[in-house]
Amino acid sequence: FPMIDAFQGISAGLTEIPTHQASLERMNSYDDLTVTAPQTATVDQAKVLDFKEIIFEDVTFHYPNQEQSVLSHINLKIDRKGTYALLGPSGAGKSTMLQLLLGDLQPTSGHFKIDGYDLETLQEYRHDLFGVLDQQPYLFNTSIMNNVRLGNLTATDDDVKAAIAAVGLRELVEKLPDGYNTVMTEGGQRFSGGERQRFALARILLQDAPIIILDEPTVSLDPITENEVLTTIFKLLADKTIIWVTHHLTGINFANQVYFLDNGNFTMSGSPQALYAHNQHFKQLLDLDTGMIN
Ligand code: ADP
Ligand code: MG
Repeated sequence: FPMIDAFQGISAGLTEIPTHQASLERMNSYDDLTVTAPQTATVDQAKVLDFKEIIFEDVTFHYPNQEQSVLSHINLKIDRKGTYALLGPSGAGKSTMLQLLLGDLQPTSGHFKIDGYDLETLQEYRHDLFGVLDQQPYLFNTSIMNNVRLGNLTATDDDVKAAIAAVGLRELVEKLPDGYNTVMTEGGQRFSGGERQRFALARILLQDAPIIILDEPTVSLDPITENEVLTTIFKLLADKTIIWVTHHLTGINFANQVYFLDNGNFTMSGSPQALYAHNQHFKQLLDLDTGMIN
């Protein structure tokens, strides 16, 4: 892929008509290069979805109207099927990092790569690659069936019912007078927070993308429901690559790796078990969040 980057640079250079000898010489050497460089950057969708790793390569991001960079030279390797928890104080840049990963923002410098493919070149596969579960799932003013099917418009009624059963809502839905045809009011107000997140999770199951972005999906739930929903999420999404932004440590043992973001970079990282054993700060936070008193 570096070859293709070079090639694109060359193409850009060639749009300026060379007017002197030095440029002509440069053009000749570019001609030599293009012989060996791949001519097209076609990306095989199946290959991309079957990726092995995601690399954050020296990623820096600066909002134009801010004095300092939010993220500064971030490097991170995410393995297929790993669960990565991203922690950090409010304003640390966690949501910014997710927006960058999703391609909603472009890094000021650095790259996000999936098996060597720059994510910028993969935007057409965004929906195939990423499933997103955030704080408030958006439920539309249409039937439960239609709402959940939004994850995959080719899903059959039976597929939708299976997804709803998997997230533990089958009984609830089938008891409703209109069952799967029950219209969800705007925002899903007739269902509890935990139920709404489960409907959103059913949608994600149908979507079946390999990478799941969790942006504090349980932040508005009570502790018991939070535990139940987290358990369901991590059970059903066990074969996914999960990037989970969370502001506290409830359920942190579901993560294989924890990264603390502060002042633009990671200040602490490791498995929850290793951090608990060796990092006093982490131990204190976890004991506080789980209500343990030593
Ligand atoms: P977190 O999700 O960790 O709470 P954010 O990524 O939302 O943090 O924000 C990181 C920093 O960037 C904060 O200082 C925030 O004020 C700033 N920020 C977020 N969005 C914008 C924006 N659209 N324009 C300018 N600054 C922003
Ligand atoms: Mg945020």
